[in-house]
Amino acid sequence: MSRTALRICPLCEATCGLTLTIDEGRVTGARGDRDDVFSKGFICPKGAAFGALDSDPDRLRTPLVRDGGELREATWEEAFEAVAAGIRPVVERYGPHAVGLVLGNPNVHTMAGALYPPVLLAGLGTRSLFTASTVDQMPKHVSSGLLFGDANAIPVPDLDRTGHLLLIGANPWSPTAVCAPPPTSPAGSRPSGHAVAPSP
Ligand code: SF4
Repeated sequence: MSRTALRICPLCEATCGLTLTIDEGRVTGARGDRDDVFSKGFICPKGAAFGALDSDPDRLRTPLVRDGGELREATWEEAFEAVAAGIRPVVERYGPHAVGLVLGNPNVHTMAGALYPPVLLAGLGTRSLFTASTVDQMPKHVSSGLLFGDANAIPVPDLDRTGHLLLIGANPWSPTAVCAPPPTSPAGSRPSGHAVAPSP
């Protein structure tokens, strides 16, 4: 039996409202929730792909542990044991900074993802931390710091009153387009003039 569920997309900080179609416990469709007060129906291709994501046969549903060169399904206990067995020799031989952590975007959208990494970092004593921010966002912080004196003073385009929008190195249809999350998104507002996004 099919039903509709209203959810918030957990994949990035734009937090778009989703209207999901669920058939027998499986997500079979996803579209923007036009009544969402924030995103007003806007979603990006990632949000629209929730149905395909849910039924993807390659989606990880259990930990995998490499055993004799092959990945095999394992319990969480086995997985944590494998992690501990792998990390300890590295720390003992090369020091804590040899262990690098890469935190993906969805970590900031779950309670566990926000709470546990600081504990893990403190336990490891490593300074080798990488995130979505360190990979693709630092130039924005550096330029904002140099221009405005504050690395977090990131200007948000005033799309409603923009006559000509020139996007360099940005895709207006990607998630949280050009640091302008909904409702200053393609669905919430549009530049009144031209929008130009040269492709490299
Ligand atoms: S911009 Fe895309 S990934 Fe981000 S919350 Fe909205 S639908 Fe999800």
